[in-house]
Amino acid sequence: MHINIKDILDRETGERAEFAIEGERPDLPDVELAEDLGGSATITKLDDVLLVEGELATQLKLECHRCLSSFTHPARIQLGGRFSFNPNAEAEGDEWPISKRFEIDLAPLVRQELLLALPIQLLCREACLGLCIDCGQPQEAEHEH
Ligand SMILES: [Zn+2]
Ligand SMILES: [Zn+2]
Repeated sequence: MHINIKDILDRETGERAEFAIEGERPDLPDVELAEDLGGSATITKLDDVLLVEGELATQLKLECHRCLSSFTHPARIQLGGRFSFNPNAEAEGDEWPISKRFEIDLAPLVRQELLLALPIQLLCREACLGLCIDCGQPQEAEHEH
């Protein structure tokens, strides 16, 4: 999810650029997407940082804690982050680095927000019966012994 921000850097402080995000399905540690990300974002040029704000939606692919089957969960996230040329930006928390090639990567920001958007209970449905203690198949699957 790299965006070239060279043009934006040349603008006046306070100017903003808007862009659509679609067809993006980044490989993120700890979060699997069942669907492409869609939404929009704006980049505002401030004095020495770029402010990125956006709103994205997708479907997460999760595994049920009880029956281990996979299920999808809709996620809607707000992006908000500052990007700067400080190479240690990421280590300092709220700020992210602009690469030497004038690119910013939204993937770490998206991952952070998606992790916060995970449901508290990872269940395919609230009443999931889990696995059969006899054979290990999901109870939901019709089977006999
Ligand atoms: Zn389940
Ligand atoms: Zn069984």
